[in-house]
Formats: sequence, structure tokens, C-alpha cells
Amino acid sequence: MVGMTAVHCPSCRKDAPPRAENRFFPFCSERCKLVDLGKWLGEEYRVPARPGESEGGATPEKSDGGEESG
Ligand SMILES: [Zn+2]
Repeated sequence: MVGMTAVHCPSCRKDAPPRAENRFFPFCSERCKLVDLGKWLGEEYRVPARPGESEGGATPEKSDGGEESG
């Protein structure tokens, strides 16, 4: 057994496979890599959430036209 440096996945903190056989290095899997990227993108493109904003009751009412017959 060779003494290889154990690398822990930045996302799930598990031991990730060595770079030689891990294309998602230093992550353990593609999923964890996407998760980490998602966090960064989430910060950039996060939508401004409004805390329970209610609109005023201003409904456009249409007036009845005078319709006479006879
Ligand atoms: Zn992971």
C-alpha cells in the first residue's frame, strides 16, 4: 500500500478518488462538483425574494354602459 495523500471532497467531505482516476477531482463525483458550482452560481444569479408582499386591492372595474331599449 502506497502512502497516497487522501483528498476529501469539498462538498460532502468524503474521501475522493485520486486525480488520476477521478475526472471530478477534487470532488468525489460529478454530483458533488455540480453542487459546489451551483452554490457559486446561486450567489451570482440569486433572485431577490420578497418577504410576503401583498398588493393593494385596486381592481380595474368596468362601468356598465347605459343600454336602453324600447
Ligand atoms: Zn462528494
